[in-house]
Amino acid sequence: MRVSVFGATGSIGESTFDLLQRRDDIETVALTGGRNVARLAEQARALRAELAVTAHDDCYDALKEALAGSGVEVAAGTEALIAAAERPTDWVMSAIVGAAGLAPGFRALAQGATLALANKESLVTAGPLLMAEAARHSARILPVDSEHSAVFQALVGEDISQVERVIITASGGPFREWSKAALAKATLAEAMQHPNWAMGQRITIDSASLFNKALELIETREYFDLEPAQIEAVVHPQSIIHALVGFRDGAMMAHLGAPDMRHAIGYALNWPERRDLPVARLDLAQIGALSFEAPDPERFPALRLSREVMELRGHAGAAFNAAKEIALDAFIGGQIRFLGMAELVERTIDSLLSDSCLTDPVLALETVAAMDQMARQRARAIAAHMD
Ligand code: NAD
Ligand code: MG
Repeated sequence: MRVSVFGATGSIGESTFDLLQRRDDIETVALTGGRNVARLAEQARALRAELAVTAHDDCYDALKEALAGSGVEVAAGTEALIAAAERPTDWVMSAIVGAAGLAPGFRALAQGATLALANKESLVTAGPLLMAEAARHSARILPVDSEHSAVFQALVGEDISQVERVIITASGGPFREWSKAALAKATLAEAMQHPNWAMGQRITIDSASLFNKALELIETREYFDLEPAQIEAVVHPQSIIHALVGFRDGAMMAHLGAPDMRHAIGYALNWPERRDLPVARLDLAQIGALSFEAPDPERFPALRLSREVMELRGHAGAAFNAAKEIALDAFIGGQIRFLGMAELVERTIDSLLSDSCLTDPVLALETVAAMDQMARQRARAIAAHMD
């Protein structure tokens, strides 16, 4: 099998690299990264990749130098990233963070490759288009989010029309028990203290605000084609159950596992088979108890906003994600407060609702990109007047 990894130097990328390194029956085609060219070069050498691509033109020389004499081809920039996704391969890991992950995923599907999709933003911004593109090319999309991989696995051998509800779990993040007054003062360092998962900076903060869960509710709707009312999120602080599927007879199938993304990645890599994976086995007696609580939309408005976005559909997902990315940048940059992120996203959606094509059906990548840009501009303008 031939594989490519987009976003190889990130958290999901490193976990994918770890699994690939343990296999001698897989050929690596392309690896891509950002500014960490030293690590990208190391990975490319270790996996004997055909090609290494940095997303940044100004990193080309450094990458070229780091790979001198290795036989690995080097390229840089957005066009090169797209070209890399067109290189013949069987399996592509989509692990770039943010809306930038969308285009390479489309190209991978267009060549009929299996798309292992960690980049949830692809489904949030352009779900119907992405699913249609996969169908057109008879290509598979395999979910690589722990919750969605869990749902996918619980559905093996089942008929989706018999599904009554899907419940995805949320750890609740570091602020699960914080009051609204405390949340108003939450710092970046505090938001980075995820209780169970080690992840990239952006998704870690999104987990603290529950924006990550908000994206995942939309991701569930788009991937499994369910009605919003069928999709629920429940807080489960131990992160042992990743999701549950409820059927019309009242039975629920839960997926349990250690919080290690190598499970979801490995499942997608080995699908439809199962193979040994280097993940911890659960000791249920030691875990002792699993607990659940309802999420609080008052303290975590992201969940309420995602319900609105699921109902609106159209380009609302693209606007929601773009506004959220700007809000995240503004929080990381110290421009707005923690709770300001949800406020900014809500105000951006409201403002776009009144005077734009937010709810037009998503028919082309171009209109998704246009909404993405419009929402970013709008969010930046609103953020400039927030404290
Ligand atoms: P990360 O920040 O650790 O890594 C992101 C990768 O993308 C890096 O290789 C970086 O160089 C590259 N990248 C960033 N911006 C880019 C751009 N504009 N163009 C090209 N490349 C760019 O992120 P992560 O935590 O690995 O998350 C990756 C994706 O997987 C996200 O969509 C995230 O929501 C999803 N995801 C992550 C986890 C997790 O455990 N980390 C779990 C589920 C889903
Ligand atoms: Mg997840």
